[in-house]
Amino acid sequence: MSKQPSSYLSSKLEGRLKADKSGNSIYAIEPINKGELIAVFGGVVYEWETFIHLPEIERMLCLQVEDRHFLVPRPIGEGDYVNHSCNPNAGLSGQIGLVAMRDIQIGEEVCFDYAMCDTMPYDEFECLCGAPHCRGKVGGNDWMRPELQKRYAGFFAPHVQRKIDAQKAERRAFERAMRNAKTGAHAKPVVATMYK
Ligand SMILES: [Zn+2]
Repeated sequence: MSKQPSSYLSSKLEGRLKADKSGNSIYAIEPINKGELIAVFGGVVYEWETFIHLPEIERMLCLQVEDRHFLVPRPIGEGDYVNHSCNPNAGLSGQIGLVAMRDIQIGEEVCFDYAMCDTMPYDEFECLCGAPHCRGKVGGNDWMRPELQKRYAGFFAPHVQRKIDAQKAERRAFERAMRNAKTGAHAKPVVATMYK
């Protein structure tokens, strides 16, 4: 290997070509416990306006770390070949950490769900992950799906979690307004004034 890669990959994993030669992946070569650190991503951070003009290979391997900021690996290492799955065994811890969501056995491919970090449409694709509940298409708005918010609670990047919290607060405010409208809580004084 030439230069030290910008990402860290636990010594319990290795990157290699998939059996069907469709691309690189990372595999456990030792058992990994739930909660254990798998990788820490590194590289150069770009703002959206610059990022979208980078070569496709760099955009594909990047990690969205903020609403408009993207981490691109330089140089690329084994740890940057973590694929997407709709049934992942790993999730994010903070902006750049990847941890095991459950115990992982030797030989298992380690994947996370890109909905945990993506809120922009820079890497949308037809998903062929083969999971029973595969959503077929992976896009920048997948984090909005209630079932994913529930399944990946605690494993979203901070910028995505902020959006989820804001969305929930908005929904609660709307429901409160609807309840008040139904009970006429705000309408009463007006009516009372009109018919005095
Ligand atoms: Zn899928």
